[in-house]
Amino acid sequence: MNRHQIDLGFVRGGFRLRVELNLPSSGVTVVLGPSGSGKSTLLRLIAGLEQPQEGRIQVGGQLWLDTGRRISLAPQRRGVGMVFQDYALFANMTVAGNIGYGLPRKGRRQTVREWIERLHLTGLEARHPHQLSGGQKQRVALARALAREPDLLLLDEPLSAVDVYLRQRLRDQLLAVAATLEQPVIMVTHDLDEARHLADQVGVMVGGEMYRFGLTSEVFDDPGDVESARVLGWRNLLPVRWIEHDAAGGEWGRLNLARDLSPEVAWLGIRPEHLRIVDRASEGLDARAVRVRELGAFRELQCRLTDGTPVYLQRPWNEPLPAPGEHVRLGLPTQHLRPLSEGLGQVILHRTQVVLTGAEPPAADDGMHAVA
Ligand code: ADP
Ligand code: MG
Repeated sequence: MNRHQIDLGFVRGGFRLRVELNLPSSGVTVVLGPSGSGKSTLLRLIAGLEQPQEGRIQVGGQLWLDTGRRISLAPQRRGVGMVFQDYALFANMTVAGNIGYGLPRKGRRQTVREWIERLHLTGLEARHPHQLSGGQKQRVALARALAREPDLLLLDEPLSAVDVYLRQRLRDQLLAVAATLEQPVIMVTHDLDEARHLADQVGVMVGGEMYRFGLTSEVFDDPGDVESARVLGWRNLLPVRWIEHDAAGGEWGRLNLARDLSPEVAWLGIRPEHLRIVDRASEGLDARAVRVRELGAFRELQCRLTDGTPVYLQRPWNEPLPAPGEHVRLGLPTQHLRPLSEGLGQVILHRTQVVLTGAEPPAADDGMHAVA
């Protein structure tokens, strides 16, 4: 009932953004996408730091933007908290000053004290930003955003400025804070592990449009289109040249999917951990081993199919793998093969339908969730 509706159309130079988002009233939404796809612009439009040519933003019962009615609240009048990649703290202010900035005088000290405790900043109140570690700066920025009790929290790559070895801990802290929040969070990242850890739902943005939006496990398991699959780290992508009921093929061979395929299927995808090496008589694809890469607990075998298409296979480190140059037969288990469309507008979802808790099911004509 208290869902948040965000519809935006924005053009600047050669860049176009067209997004319709229907957010549940709580939970973390992670937006993934290539650099330049418009993720930061989306957050800035929601915050009111950029003006769209057309759009409507309704958060809870509040209307922030309606270009049709010439309504656009100033950023400070939107109940929005924003944390940027570089934190944008005021360098000449203390930690307490940063957190309390802009709060009403009445109750300010109490509010600042609460957030200092809640984000484990006790003892650092009088320090300036240059006297803080990356993680501490991040928590100050988060406290400053949360102290205004925003209706919506926007995080633009909040962990990207942090050392790799600190990320894990900060990610856990962020998750702990996010779990206690009543308001929804939209977070941009390009770290897939982070998205899986933090997100309740995931949006994939490509070229200014939300190609895929749904529950995290469903989006990662079934990308729907090849662009989203690339963003989500699916590296085994086979171009489909022909379809015959339940089989598809290309110069690389033929695969039986044991179910009827939609004519929009342009690619087949499978994750590296689902490929198997099988004996020559078994169903599968012929390939040649190229090289082996050590990945700690796993090893990755890169192969080339007969037409040169690269495929990657991941196995536990102690399993024997063929040597470079050897012929191998690869088994691609049917249940792990995902049919993918070429791009937006014909997303192929075979196993799942996008339904978000607390949100209305998307309208059939919005083009984004068309089900084959
Ligand atoms: P992302 O955050 O996904 O990397 P951005 O939203 O920053 O993408 O950028 C979207 C598009 O807008 C890109 O084409 C980028 O080059 C352009 N862009 C970003 N910031 C500006 C700016 N201040 N002025 C002009 N163009 C910009
Ligand atoms: Mg950005």
